[in-house]
This record gives sequence, structure tokens and C-alpha cells, in this order.
Amino acid sequence: AKSQGKNDYRMFSPEMYINSSEELLLENDLREAIKKEELLLHYQPQVDAFSGEIAGFEALIRWNHPVHGLLSPDKFIPLAEKTGLILPIGQWVIHTACRQHSSWMKAGLAPLKISVNLSAHQFLKQDFTKNVEEIMSTYSMNPAYLEFEITESMAMDFSYALKVLEELKSLGVQISMDDFGTGYSSLLYLKQLNIDTLKIDKYFVDDLLEGTYGSVLVSTIIAMADAMQLKVVAEGVETKAQLQELQSLGCQLIQGYYFSKAVPADYITENFNTLKT
Ligand code: C2E
Ligand code: CA
Ligand code: CA
Ligand code: CA
Repeated sequence: AKSQGKNDYRMFSPEMYINSSEELLLENDLREAIKKEELLLHYQPQVDAFSGEIAGFEALIRWNHPVHGLLSPDKFIPLAEKTGLILPIGQWVIHTACRQHSSWMKAGLAPLKISVNLSAHQFLKQDFTKNVEEIMSTYSMNPAYLEFEITESMAMDFSYALKVLEELKSLGVQISMDDFGTGYSSLLYLKQLNIDTLKIDKYFVDDLLEGTYGSVLVSTIIAMADAMQLKVVAEGVETKAQLQELQSLGCQLIQGYYFSKAVPADYITENFNTLKT
């Protein structure tokens, strides 16, 4: 498999020199973070745009750093990817999300889908599917409730991506294409990859109500998804006006601050009573 060259072509600058010594400190901390139980997942609901019912949750990682406080993934996931720490961290994420899912089931919550973000390194690692299969059996989890969010760049080595996705699909997990429209992509590829869901990036949702053509891209993506029988999730929905526009365009699922930001697992267990079966 090809490696992701994303960080390999950056120019070196004085600011980065300063950053890199800070980075070194952070890297050392990050090495210890799993053991010290400083990582945690928050969960953001994905909601049916018409009924308001929760369809699932996206697991989003945070790092409760002893000095810097609660760090968002943008502060440490790129570093984790650069250093290879993303592999043990990614493992931890899948385990934690699945353990949470099984504990919600035991607490009597309706069986909802849980979405986990994958990094290219995980996706391209040998035996990834086998590894996922083992995790499913550890938590007696039905794979149909697990969804992996991948990005367009992971399909750069197309034939390899195709192979992994076929394996994952035959295991029964679902696949969604994250940040759709922001990467380089071809609709032809998308069709062959046999994914279940397209996530429309916040970037396009932000433009929805701007100017004459603001909704053109979103409506095009939705029409295309319909034609290909894919589900669509609009990300970063913050206002009622955006929700209404998305409803009128026929977007089935929404995710965003308008409904809820990502919240701790306990918050869901305690407050989402409607999920109790
Ligand atoms: P993403 O997968 O595109 O996740 C959506 C991001 O948008 C999340 O940020 C979420 O909190 C934020 N968001 C959701 N709704 C709204 C909204 O209405 N308004 C605004 N302004 N933001 C909204 P977060 O949690 O900071 O995650 C950032 C990125 O970090 C994620 O983007 C994903 O690429 C990455 N990430 C998060 N968790 C993991 C993980 O477990 N593994 C890997 N590899 N990457 C992760
Ligand atoms: Ca995502
Ligand atoms: Ca996204
Ligand atoms: Ca994003």
C-alpha cells in the first residue's frame, strides 16, 4: 500500500521550528495518553431531518491533557498520524466506541449506529478487517451497527481501497465517505467503492443560504446520492434556516450544533430517554 504523503511536502519555516519543539513535548505526552487514560470519546448525534429522531452517533476523540486541558482532535491527530501513534490510538477508538455501544445496549437504549473515523494508516494496515472482526466478537457487537468514516484520499490506491472495502462490507460494517466534495474525487470511483453514505462537508452547508447558487452543490450531491441509492448526512448544520433548506432539498440526515454538539457518553445515557426501548 502507498503511504499518505500529506505531510511530506511541507516547507520548513521558522514558525514550524518553534512548533516542532512544542510538538516534541506533545508527542511524548501523547505516547503516554492511552495508558494514563487521558483520551476520551464524545458522541455527536446524527438526526433524521424530518422526524428529529436520532439515527446514530459519530464518535469524536478528545484528549484531556494534564496541562493544556481538553484538546480537540485537530490539535493532536495530525501529530498522531505523523508519528504512527494513530495506530494504537485508532485501535483504542474502535474498542472504546464498541464497548460504549454494548454498554448502551445493556442500559436499554435502542440499537443505534455508531460511526468511527478512520485514518489512512489504519485503513491501509494489513489485516485491518480481521482485527475489526475480533473487536466485534470481543464486544458481541453486530457489525451492522458499526460504521467507518473514510475520506476520499484513502482511495488513492484505488485497487487496494476496493479490496479493503469489500472485506469490510462482507463483514457487515457500513462505510461512509466523510467530508465529501472537499477532496479530489470521481463519481465513477465512488460508485465502484460500494459505500453506504455520503457526508456533505460543513463547507458546503455553510454556503447553503449564500447568494443565488449557494445550494446548487448540496442539491447536486443529494440528487446524485439518490440516484446511486446512498444515504446523505449534512454536516455542520447550525441554524434552523439551514435545516429547512436541507429538508426542502430532501436531505435525510443532519448532524450539527443546531441539534447537538458532541457530548460525553454519560450525557447520552442520562438525557436521551427517548432512546430507551
Ligand atoms: P470530522 O470527522 O469532519 O468531524 C466533524 C467535526 O465538525 C467535529 O469536530 C465536530 O465536532 C464538528 N462539528 C459538528 N457539527 C458542527 C457544527 O454545527 N458547527 C461546527 N463549527 N462544527 C461542528 P472535532 O470533534 O473537533 O473533530 C475534528 C476532526 O478530527 C474530525 O473531523 C475528524 O477528521 C478528526 N477526528 C475526530 N475523531 C477522530 C478519531 O477518532 N480518529 C481520527 N483518525 N480522526 C478523528
Ligand atoms: Ca467524520
Ligand atoms: Ca466530516
Ligand atoms: Ca471535516
